[in-house]
Amino acid sequence: MEYIVRTKATYTQTEREKAFLETVEETRHEREIVTGLAPFFNERAPEDMMSFYSNDEVVSLRVLKGTDRDVEKRMPVKITRHYFELAQKSEPIKRIVKPSADETMDMAGSEDPGNQMDYSPVEGLLHKYEMGLMYVVSTCSAHCRFCYREELIARKEVERHDGTVAKKGLAKIPDVTAYILEHNRLVEENGGLHPETGREKLREILLSGGDPMVLNNMKIAAWLSALAESGIESIRIGTKEMAFYPKRFDGPFLDMLDRFHETYPQVGLHFMLHFEHPDEILAKDDDGNYVKDEKGFLQWVPDTWEAMRGLISRGWLTVENQSPIIKGVNDDYKALRILQREFKRMGGENHYFFCGRDIVAYKAFNVPIETAWQTLNESQKGLSGIENHARLSITHYKGKTEVNAVTNEPIPGLKGAENGVVIFKLLRNAADAPDRGKVCIVGRNPDAVWFDDYADRVLFDEAGLFDYTRVTEDGKAPAMPVSSMPQINGCG
Ligand code: SF4
Repeated sequence: MEYIVRTKATYTQTEREKAFLETVEETRHEREIVTGLAPFFNERAPEDMMSFYSNDEVVSLRVLKGTDRDVEKRMPVKITRHYFELAQKSEPIKRIVKPSADETMDMAGSEDPGNQMDYSPVEGLLHKYEMGLMYVVSTCSAHCRFCYREELIARKEVERHDGTVAKKGLAKIPDVTAYILEHNRLVEENGGLHPETGREKLREILLSGGDPMVLNNMKIAAWLSALAESGIESIRIGTKEMAFYPKRFDGPFLDMLDRFHETYPQVGLHFMLHFEHPDEILAKDDDGNYVKDEKGFLQWVPDTWEAMRGLISRGWLTVENQSPIIKGVNDDYKALRILQREFKRMGGENHYFFCGRDIVAYKAFNVPIETAWQTLNESQKGLSGIENHARLSITHYKGKTEVNAVTNEPIPGLKGAENGVVIFKLLRNAADAPDRGKVCIVGRNPDAVWFDDYADRVLFDEAGLFDYTRVTEDGKAPAMPVSSMPQINGCG
């Protein structure tokens, strides 16, 4: 693969880019973040927030400090004032950000669940399909306990291609733009496919992290314009900031987007939001019920409504939602139904729900694959055709895969299908796309949380999910242990 350990690339802004960047304004944001458990252990958190943890919870978490079961070592703890206030009326929201001693009872799981370094040609960039994913920052305004980027956020060390071990680095504009320009030059010269990898033009970039929306407007603008100048056709911003701190989507930020669109009207911009539960968007009364107006419309949290209106009203960009299905948070078909209905009513698009990844301690968060499918399917029974677009996705090494159907009845004459089957459909390959649309059918296993739980009951596998072999850089092709296949949990 095209792998560059480090480059000494430089980047020179164009006059058009400079003119755009000169228009960018900043706002000072007061997220009122409380970081870590120490403020709760030492009673230094704001007085009204101290009750966020009961005495028993403080004791059970404090006793783990510095041990192998330290919850903060696995995933740092962080919350904004806005999210704390939502959590006061919502158990699912509490569960998203509040660590519990139970979460490190079983630390089984992968440090690098996506084996993402396999696709990293430049520090901080993953190149998959015709798309690149970039780590532009290593934190978020608050931290979700189930995040699959915990190795980046907790600054853990990962093994690199050259065998060295180091913390995962962040993308830099000179390195990334140099890689994009060189890749696309070779693709162009070779008639549309890269001469070595056979990949197409790199035309889409996802800004991710961490959460890009914790960066200031100038840094976000600099990424947008540098990517546009490099010929990127479509940019996604993966963010949960709309849930954690919706005021971030304020006038100066929206103005910056407008100036970007005026300067680069040919570039598509897409916000990939991350709402797990309707409690993150809807106002509740003191009894915990959703507030309705006199016509029966559910009322949004005012700041979230404003922020969404700000994005949606720019008709030239799209706003989509994607979220994992997490135990105790949103494995609830009624909640998912309300979330999908409200998000579409506001003008957004329901994109994906994900099965949880096999991150370290994943058993505390993941629901079985078949349960996730049934929950989403049940939620969509109450939705209209325009509200029910979201699919359930699980990411195999080979590529993004849809959990397409789970049947309940035996299939007559098919051995192994006595309890019904699960049908997986490959949506895209990680490197290219020859197998899109191919399916894999396995006999049901209601306890399965990952592909290896079906390894003994594969009935049909034209997608090649169970005989997939990874090819390494040195040309060796070790058989992939099914148990180490990756899954998805977080943003982007
Ligand atoms: S899931 Fe997303 S918002 Fe949550 S901690 Fe991970 S990257 Fe941040």
